[in-house]
Amino acid sequence: MADDSIAVVDLERCQPDRCNYECKNYCPPNRTGKECITLRGEETREGQPDQVHISEEICLGETCGICVEKCPFDAIEIINLPQELDDDPAHRYGENAFSLYGLPVPEEGKVTGILGPNGIGKTTAVRILAGEMVPNQGNHESPPDWDDVLERYRGTELQDYIAAVRDGNVEVSRKPQYVDEIPGQFDGNTRELLEHTDERGELDYLIDRMEIGPVMDQDIDSISGGELQRVAIAACLAREADFYFLDEITPYLDIGQRMTVARLIRELADEENKSMLVVEHDLAILDLLADSLHVAYGSPGAYGVVTTPKSVRNGINEYLAGYLDNENMRIRPSPIEFEEHAPRPVNRAQTLAEYPDLTKSYGEDEFSLDVEGGTIRKNEVLGIVGPNGIGKSTFAKMLTGSIEPDEGDIDVALDISYKPQYIDIDQPMRVDAFLSSITDQFGSSYWDTEIAQPLQLERIMEQNLTDLSGGERQRVAIAACLSDSADLYLLDEPSAHLDVEQRVQAASAIRRYAEQQSATVMVIDHDIYMMDLLADRLMVFDGEPAEHGRAGQPQAMRSGMNEFLSNLDITFRRDERVGRPRINKPESQLDREQKREGEYYYS
Ligand code: ADP
Ligand code: ADP
Ligand code: SF4
Repeated sequence: MADDSIAVVDLERCQPDRCNYECKNYCPPNRTGKECITLRGEETREGQPDQVHISEEICLGETCGICVEKCPFDAIEIINLPQELDDDPAHRYGENAFSLYGLPVPEEGKVTGILGPNGIGKTTAVRILAGEMVPNQGNHESPPDWDDVLERYRGTELQDYIAAVRDGNVEVSRKPQYVDEIPGQFDGNTRELLEHTDERGELDYLIDRMEIGPVMDQDIDSISGGELQRVAIAACLAREADFYFLDEITPYLDIGQRMTVARLIRELADEENKSMLVVEHDLAILDLLADSLHVAYGSPGAYGVVTTPKSVRNGINEYLAGYLDNENMRIRPSPIEFEEHAPRPVNRAQTLAEYPDLTKSYGEDEFSLDVEGGTIRKNEVLGIVGPNGIGKSTFAKMLTGSIEPDEGDIDVALDISYKPQYIDIDQPMRVDAFLSSITDQFGSSYWDTEIAQPLQLERIMEQNLTDLSGGERQRVAIAACLSDSADLYLLDEPSAHLDVEQRVQAASAIRRYAEQQSATVMVIDHDIYMMDLLADRLMVFDGEPAEHGRAGQPQAMRSGMNEFLSNLDITFRRDERVGRPRINKPESQLDREQKREGEYYYS
């Protein structure tokens, strides 16, 4: 008996009628006659129960793990829990199901952040804090009621909050993670979506600050992802509630918009004394926004642990280091490092494409774009930065030849593999079938090591594209883009919906791919950390969104970051301990000094 181990069976994957019960046949305790793995669930047509059950009392634990290896559907996980977790879980969904340890602590007048991977129990925690479900303390057979729960949290920071939930005194307003799903759930225009949310009388102010006005009369299914994100955030913040939960605020927003949203969330805490809880993977924004931070770790889908609150700086640093000081817990074998590197030396590589000055306008009074002639080099990762609606996609479409410039000729017809910002791969097809239709490298050891592993595709290969979550879809789309053969790979916002670790791994997969395949990659993204990890050079777009855009030549990282960040009026300093870039407070001494010296990023 392994006290500290849990067995988790993914009931959607487990299909005993198709596997010959390999887990049960090979389990060592079963072979000596014990009932470690048994069958349960409804009977199938063949007269057998359709699911397995694993006794955590009898199971030998992770060091055995034979069933995990034998299961052809990857349905079983056997995990030794960290010994430090001596308490019962806050909630367990059932036998052999996901369990959550620890809960975030909402605090009046404060913005509390959660940093950690997807599938770790954040939504479960919020459902508990919203009073939608009573946390069963791991006892799903005779679950406690709210009075029992209050007993457990007596004397802790959660006591008052749980008492308020028990008494039905907590109103919660929520912003869901995947805004892309809203059009499927709401039929009507932006005005209709927002009009029922104006409980604080602040809707007009929010619409104004987030520049939603121009899309008020547009149908929800016709507005862009960035617009949808801002509408969803406005809908959440407009409500009257005690506790606001926002699951990711940055996908599809440019940096200026991210900063505006961060300020609006702060205002609700500072001026209205509300409790704000925010999950966010853009570390620069999280750092700027939160007062304190819970790190969430564990094994996605199996168990999750929410730590007690840390200072934002320490929380992010410990998370990146892969080691939590207070908990004495390693959460990752190696640290995620941001080198304070001098920008990568610009190598004198061959030219992939040269283009002259280009202009393009869409009709008389509509958007116009001027691009300064430049060169794209072979084998480089070229970062493209600038606000939304400034002409980045228009430039990319001119390179692909799908639209003609008004002035200037692009004489090379580049074959481009393109990952769009909003991913539309809703075909009723399995991931493996989809990817193998793109490349005959699929399944080769090279493809597995360079694409499938860093993008964590193995576990989702057998799933249907239509069943994937936003982050899974993103990883499949990045893999599909890189797997195609092309002269140029163009990825638009690969960071969207990826957690921090997945961003770092995707960045390294993209870089390695460029180096090893002598491929040229262009990446549009708004996550400064991701850009720093990815790009060799930068192309900066500037101007008045939706009216006029300008793009300079691709330039070295240092001058590119300086130009880009001076347009935004933001400077970064380095954290003394880990060298991670942090946004300076406006008008702080460092901010003023760096602006004077013209060093906005690599100071
Ligand atoms: P996150 O919000 O961090 O992505 P969730 O709280 O949504 O995580 O889910 C954590 C885990 O709990 C997931 O693996 C999910 O499959 C599992 N889970 C969620 N709801 C249920 C449920 N009602 N029954 C069993 N498992 C569930
Ligand atoms: P970005 O990629 O930087 O977000 P885009 O190149 O997509 O910017 O768009 C720049 C501006 O041009 C936006 O205001 C957009 O609405 C407008 N635009 C894009 N395509 C068209 C088109 N086919 N007709 C008219 N306007 C367009
Ligand atoms: Fe049986 Fe699997 Fe536990 Fe090994 S790990 S004892 S095979 S249930």
